Amino acid sequence: MDIDSIAVVPDHCHRCGSEVATTEWEGDEHPWCPDCDTVLSRHPVPGVHIVVYDEECVLMLDEPIPQHEGLLSLPGGFAKYDEGPKETGLRELEEETGLTADPDDLSYVTVVHAEFPKSSLYLLTYAVHRSNVAGELEGEAEGFEAAFHPVDEVLSSTDRVRDSDQERIELAIDGPGRAA
Ligand SMILES: [Zn+2]
Repeated sequence: MDIDSIAVVPDHCHRCGSEVATTEWEGDEHPWCPDCDTVLSRHPVPGVHIVVYDEECVLMLDEPIPQHEGLLSLPGGFAKYDEGPKETGLRELEEETGLTADPDDLSYVTVVHAEFPKSSLYLLTYAVHRSNVAGELEGEAEGFEAAFHPVDEVLSSTDRVRDSDQERIELAIDGPGRAA
């Protein structure tokens, strides 16, 4: 029996195209291909976000996605298979905002497990003080509208910022991750 890692609930085997059945493996039911005897083991997909902050403001993106109209979120995105987490965070930060930072200036904040019906994510979060970022903030890098917003406003605006983002911003600014 082989074991392959996948992220989503499979309809078909990615190796041979056969319909997927289930099998018991290590005490759990898993999707399994009877033709190539492969267990399709589901795992979270890693993503990385960066909190760029100073004493008054935090960097947020106004996403151009229609279903997220008006929603502010932290810069970041999915890891590529050959990237370390800091590399992912800094690449996304530059793509989305034009800002760059040294990996050594990032401090670990937390990791959140976000579960969805078909897949799940591990969202790693790093923080970097605004004095340690370089480059010009590009207001609309890659279609994202990036801007520094007052922290008070971001933390109190429950309709524009997700709870999970607010928690991570608070942790980044004064949580245990910063003290480490
Ligand atoms: Zn197969």
